[in-house]
Amino acid sequence: MTIAFIDLAAQQARLRPTLDQAIAQVLDQGQYIMGPQVRELEEQLAAFCGAKHCLSCANGTDALQLALMALGIKAGDAVFVPSFTFAATAEVVPFLNATPVFVDCLPDTFNMDPESLKRAIAHAKSIGLKPACIIPVDLFGLPADYDVLIAIARENGMKVIGDSAQGFGGVYKGRVTGTIGDITTTSFFPAKPLGCYGDGGALFTEDDELAALIDSFRVHGKGSHKYYNERIGMNSRLDTLQAAILMEKLAVYADEIEKRQAVASRYTAGLSNRFETPYIPDGLKSIWAQYTLKTASTAERDAFQQRAKEAGVPTVVYYPVPLHRQNAYKDFPSDPAGLSVSDDLASRVISLPMHPYLEQATQETIIAAVAG
Ligand SMILES: *Cc1c(COP(=O)(O)O)cnc(C)c1O
Repeated sequence: MTIAFIDLAAQQARLRPTLDQAIAQVLDQGQYIMGPQVRELEEQLAAFCGAKHCLSCANGTDALQLALMALGIKAGDAVFVPSFTFAATAEVVPFLNATPVFVDCLPDTFNMDPESLKRAIAHAKSIGLKPACIIPVDLFGLPADYDVLIAIARENGMKVIGDSAQGFGGVYKGRVTGTIGDITTTSFFPAKPLGCYGDGGALFTEDDELAALIDSFRVHGKGSHKYYNERIGMNSRLDTLQAAILMEKLAVYADEIEKRQAVASRYTAGLSNRFETPYIPDGLKSIWAQYTLKTASTAERDAFQQRAKEAGVPTVVYYPVPLHRQNAYKDFPSDPAGLSVSDDLASRVISLPMHPYLEQATQETIIAAVAG
């Protein structure tokens, strides 16, 4: 038996007949760019989370860039990002000549630490940067602590972009990600909880003006006519085929989130006496993009990975090097008190196979193998 880290084939087996129909329909219509399925998907995504506007785009990284462009982020601006995240969160900031400033995360939720954010803001000001925006990440599927982070952002006149590439559909105190902050972004990379069969992304906002700007920026800065250019934009559209595929996947997404929760609960029941299992604060719901444990040390993690490997259980370390230690990012500013939690997590976290179709028997094998 081979155990998949993320089993896209099991999902495909469930959806194959409707996916085939949806794909055939796009081929029959022949509108490969901005076909009617794109708008239809955007409406369904907006309805799913309760957002006023959804605008699809080419991928989750572009979604972040489009969000910063719509907010007018520019040279001299500080954009506060976590260090313990995927590189895309920070990568888009220097593209707009703004400066990413790295913030530590909390040891329990792995999400942006408000106290570290405050220190990073003071530091950014002291070196002549203008605090402009924060990008909390819903890491591994768990929403960041938005009430606290947004309050700090507003006190400092800053905008808020939620990077929900891993968290779309997560719940924060009764609200679904996509409706929190000024703009939320997500990714439909195949391995994300809601993934397509290629690259894809989307932005969500309640703000009509921001939505109009994003719509313009994603198609070469178009004006009222596609050959009137009002601003410098980019080419970042979601393919009609991917939109058609995503609608079929969205139809089962709520069910899949429940199944992920059941998988996570079984892991926690089987492993919490042995490792530090994920902590979910009251009022929050993770969509379990990853199930990530803390081992006691790097040595224990190495042994854990070895045991898993011998039993045929795939594991992955997300993320082995926090961004403030990466060659590409180490010269940007960060919380002057240091990012000790990000460093510590990078040294000892490990993620287990996680997808909605993980069978209970397979999970028992995984639990027995990694518990050692
Ligand atoms: C995957 C991911 C992105 C980027 O999404 P792409 O669609 O791969 O460009 C951005 N932020 C986070 C936190 C991610 O996990």
